[in-house]
Amino acid sequence: MRRVSVFGATGSIGQNTLDLIARRPDDFNVVALSGGANVALLAEQAKALRAEYAIVAREDLLGDLRAALAGSAVKPVAGRSALLEAAAIPVDWAMSSVVGFAGLEISLAIARNSKTLALANKESLVCGGALLSKVCQDNGTCLLPVDSEHSAIFQCIGGAGKEVERIILTASGGPFLHADPKALERATPEQAMAHPNWDMGQRISIDSASMFNKAMEVLETHALFDVSPEQIEVIIHPQSIIHSMVGFTDGAIMAHLGPADMRGPIGFALNWPDRVDLPLERLDFGALGALSFQHPDPAQFPALELASQTMQMGGLAGAVFNAAKEAALDLFLDRRIGFLDMARVVRYVLAQTDVSGSDTLNIKDVIDADAIARVRAGEAAQKGF
Ligand code: NAD
Ligand code: MG
Repeated sequence: MRRVSVFGATGSIGQNTLDLIARRPDDFNVVALSGGANVALLAEQAKALRAEYAIVAREDLLGDLRAALAGSAVKPVAGRSALLEAAAIPVDWAMSSVVGFAGLEISLAIARNSKTLALANKESLVCGGALLSKVCQDNGTCLLPVDSEHSAIFQCIGGAGKEVERIILTASGGPFLHADPKALERATPEQAMAHPNWDMGQRISIDSASMFNKAMEVLETHALFDVSPEQIEVIIHPQSIIHSMVGFTDGAIMAHLGPADMRGPIGFALNWPDRVDLPLERLDFGALGALSFQHPDPAQFPALELASQTMQMGGLAGAVFNAAKEAALDLFLDRRIGFLDMARVVRYVLAQTDVSGSDTLNIKDVIDADAIARVRAGEAAQKGF
């Protein structure tokens, strides 16, 4: 039996992870499951999987969680420090799938104490990539990417090193691929949330529509794999069948194909280095017909250019980029700024924030960079950009 924990269990990635774990009750012993505020679902999951601990991030919900778990052997806990303590319980495999910057310290706690960190929380790499890699290296922790593109790249690279010439990230183009840029100024959160291919959480769905998600994935690629910014490309592939590609110095390209179902990359990380039968639809190429590709239009998707700028800046620019993007998304969700203003906010914050003196290996410096960037994003929305 392998001891496993899932942080962000009530979210889209978390539920898909538990779906796979629940299918093999004899293989897994569930230690900790966490949720943000959805106490009813968390309690249901924890009871069904006989978890040792259920952790709700909001401290004021402890009473509700206790009541929902009454009569079961699951131990209820609540609050941010309880969550970080639970993430530090040694297990064989832990999923980090809380959304946003809140996931970084969870990933670090897992990396310090557990054997394998399955990483869905891309913010961990974008904001604290150098620190997280060092902690994994120092502790001999295996880091397996769960983001579908990075799982695809990991699988395509195999054991290759210097032979890798380019990494080609595929992007669906999201719901606004054919939208008129003028109409995009007025796009609403509801329209932005309607992703054509993937069923995901609210924040990542809107980030997909703006391509901020792809921009994050470019930064994630840079943190995970040993390539320079110039070696990372983005290509629009609306069918989302190719999950990313790796080009080698002999001109060959390896592509990873599969259905758009996150249980693919999650299952790969759960069973690595083995491959096991997964409950995924099998591709029927005749039914698919054609796979198409196009270059992204920088005017329509300014987030990609901001990612290049962030890689050139280096250091903690990724933390600034992410915080500005998260704050801009909150402003958009509150309907205080328009859809295209999110990129304007991030551009403003990157131009205003100097983190060149910061230490990328120091968590306090990462947290400070995040906090400063959020203040600047608020400033941008107030003063105009
Ligand atoms: P989601 O919003 O569906 O779920 C997020 C989870 O985190 C929930 O359990 C929520 O309760 C919890 N949470 C939210 N804020 C929290 C906080 N401050 N403290 C503790 N817990 C908190 O998100 P998701 O779509 O599952 O994405 C999770 C992560 O995985 C994100 O970083 C996302 O970018 C990444 N990711 C998601 C997908 C996908 O298909 N959904 C694909 C690739 C990567
Ligand atoms: Mg992805």
